[in-house]
Amino acid sequence: MGKRKEFTLATKRDARKRARGKCENCGATLTHGKVGFARREEHDHDNPDYFSKDNSLENCVVLCRTCHVEKTRKDIADIAKSKRREERDMGFREPPKQTIQSRGFQKRKKRGRIELPNELPPPPLARASMENAE
Ligand SMILES: [Zn+2]
Repeated sequence: MGKRKEFTLATKRDARKRARGKCENCGATLTHGKVGFARREEHDHDNPDYFSKDNSLENCVVLCRTCHVEKTRKDIADIAKSKRREERDMGFREPPKQTIQSRGFQKRKKRGRIELPNELPPPPLARASMENAE
């Protein structure tokens, strides 16, 4: 797999101009740097880099951090789906027949502990000595 390419500075600058300080998805006013992290300006490949290898301005979307995270999650799912399909088409992978079930965590053996009754009669020897003392 080729190395992922990022947008050039010029592309990001042009995209910023186009977006006019707003997220191009939700319209939120964008921030820069560490202030207002959720609305921080980020750049996203509209058509994921994995598919398009397109770093043009047309494929560069200005998003707030929140929208970017969501979009990335969707892209990752799309890419994974496409990879699975590709593998299947090439015969590398059988379609799943059943869901994989975890064996679960193995339970630790409980440490043996003898439960003693709260009140024990004194052992016979002690009882005998007590009786002798009286
Ligand atoms: Zn947004």
